[in-house]
Amino acid sequence: MQEKHRLIFYPDTILRKKTEDITDLTPSILRFIDKMKEVCAQTKGLGIAAPQVNESLSIFVTPITGTNIKTKDPIYAKDLKDWTVIINPRILSFSKEAVGYEEGCLSLPKLFSTVFRPKTIEVSFLDSQLKVHKKVLSHWFARLFLHEYDHLQGILFTDYLIGKISNGFEQTADFEEKLRLSEALQNFEAL
Ligand SMILES: [Zn+2]
Repeated sequence: MQEKHRLIFYPDTILRKKTEDITDLTPSILRFIDKMKEVCAQTKGLGIAAPQVNESLSIFVTPITGTNIKTKDPIYAKDLKDWTVIINPRILSFSKEAVGYEEGCLSLPKLFSTVFRPKTIEVSFLDSQLKVHKKVLSHWFARLFLHEYDHLQGILFTDYLIGKISNGFEQTADFEEKLRLSEALQNFEAL
């Protein structure tokens, strides 16, 4: 039996499609959101976007619910029902200051590299009740939001590193690193 809603790997073409905005939370979309959480939890991901579970919809989910004020560490939901659901996200503005941090992606297993992204972003999105939110995010939450937002535009983190696109910040991947990433991507394509 082939299940449609499963983890999708590079170079599947759905990862390159710009997603559709959500206008109504139908029972099938709600079931799909639960499936996204399940797939992300099984693979121990920090977040997953709809195209990675084979639907071109403008949704991502994360087990992270907030930041510990004292330690600045992420707070994780204990139960799937408490996960953060982000629908139709928009980036309203971003800081000129960038930070580099190692990223990986469930759709590109075992591939990690440092990506420079804005330190702070202002965003809007709908939650799982389609309620509008406007927030300023920084550090790891800004990074997670941008990584998942990119998935909804058909962009992967490696695109910045191999010079395919730019997010306005200089990436530090040197020649060796670019070669390593390009070869890794070709190996995925050959599978
Ligand atoms: Zn990813």
